Amino acid sequence: MSDTDSTSQSDTLRTPIVAVLGHVDHGKTSLLDKIRGSAVSEGEAGAITQHIGATAVPLDTVSQMAGSLVKPEDFDLPGLLFIDTPGHHSFSTLRSRGGALADIAILVVDVNDSFQPQTEEAIDILKRTGTPFIVAANKIDTTPGWNPQEGEPIQKSYEAQSQRARSKLDEKLYEIIGELSDMGFSSDFYWRVQNFQSNIGVVPVSALTGEGIPDLLGVLMGLSQRYMKDEMAIDVAGPGSGTVLEVKEERGFGATLDVVLYDGTIHAGDTIVVGGANDPIVTEVRALLQPRPNAEIRTEKRFDKVDEVRAAAGIKIAAPDLEDAMAGAPVRVVGDRDTDEVIREVEAELADIEVTTEEEGVVVKADTLGSLEAMANALQEAEVPILRAEVGDVAPRDVAVASTAREPEHEVILGFNVDVLSNAEDELDKNDVKLFEDDVIYQLVDEYKEYVDEMKRAQQ
Ligand code: GDP
Repeated sequence: MSDTDSTSQSDTLRTPIVAVLGHVDHGKTSLLDKIRGSAVSEGEAGAITQHIGATAVPLDTVSQMAGSLVKPEDFDLPGLLFIDTPGHHSFSTLRSRGGALADIAILVVDVNDSFQPQTEEAIDILKRTGTPFIVAANKIDTTPGWNPQEGEPIQKSYEAQSQRARSKLDEKLYEIIGELSDMGFSSDFYWRVQNFQSNIGVVPVSALTGEGIPDLLGVLMGLSQRYMKDEMAIDVAGPGSGTVLEVKEERGFGATLDVVLYDGTIHAGDTIVVGGANDPIVTEVRALLQPRPNAEIRTEKRFDKVDEVRAAAGIKIAAPDLEDAMAGAPVRVVGDRDTDEVIREVEAELADIEVTTEEEGVVVKADTLGSLEAMANALQEAEVPILRAEVGDVAPRDVAVASTAREPEHEVILGFNVDVLSNAEDELDKNDVKLFEDDVIYQLVDEYKEYVDEMKRAQQ
């Protein structure tokens, strides 16, 4: 293939979006930090952009990090985009057109701890969404007698270990392979895997020393390039589509959106439609912002303005009227289409996320649309009626609504992964409205059910 061919082809291929899942403390954050950290130090100035909510690692940088495992000439995908918030909460609540926002996942498993409840939950979610994944068997540095080999691919390092260290690690890796098999997946040490579509690659890594991370990147690139190219083909010049990760107040800009753009291109000045708490919001992009690398939090100029961004990328959008935008909602560039048509498209997508409310019930607040839906489902199963369900922090208005409930057991706000605005705190006391907060859905529902049971016992 000539150079021109590969350039024109990569113009139409986007970056695969990668999510990191796994049990708490198994090393998801450390792994992401290590990948981001080495990407920043390996990348030439300006080559790596620290996006908001998602970190893009261009192919050249992946290749520098992965050494001989990723030769740029073998790839026409432009790199990898990592979603910065790990965990299956963010994975399952961030969607694109009804499917998962992430194209591919890294399942992190602590070799000392093997499968834990959240590992199994994560696999169930990956199975349900049909998302391909690889396993990062993490913390191999803790293997007794392990002797890290600087800069070697993990297979070489593994083979260079003492017999004792290797069999200790084998024991742990085979436990993981056995657990995967119990869940219906065949898997193997990644260097023995021929077909990553039918066989899950297990990559021994250490997020602490960085061993195995080049291999992990190599497998991600290889897998995407070989099996997912069709899904990565996009009309980059087409109108941008994205998902809101977060709605954030920024000094000097007002309400802004952190967005992962998964299709097309967005420009400063574009008209966009965004899912809002009431109606879709139609507005014009005032600025597209990227955080400056190494910018100090307190300095005035924390962002650089860019004229356009191509999928897949993380970007901050500044525009008027974004106050009511919802995390998890779609963002669409109108382009040369009819605005009403795009509004209908956004409405149709939002209609998929169904939350039934009733005349009487509790108030629910959640951080994203997806988590709001999951909360509503859990409450419905527990036969708890909902009076109002909204994305966003707990505000005085929510307290006012909750205080109108007829039944004392419904004078309640259930907050999932949200903050309480300071002026709402006072209102809670004044109105005798009880607030439950948690970042695990079933715990939140259980806490509330216990409260109702206690209340009923007290009445008897
Ligand atoms: P998360 O909850 O999955 O995001 O896990 P963290 O990244 O916060 O890691 C949990 C703990 O394990 C922290 O104390 C980390 O320093 C430690 N840890 C993570 N990766 C490794 C590793 O590869 N080796 C060792 N020895 N410790 C690790």
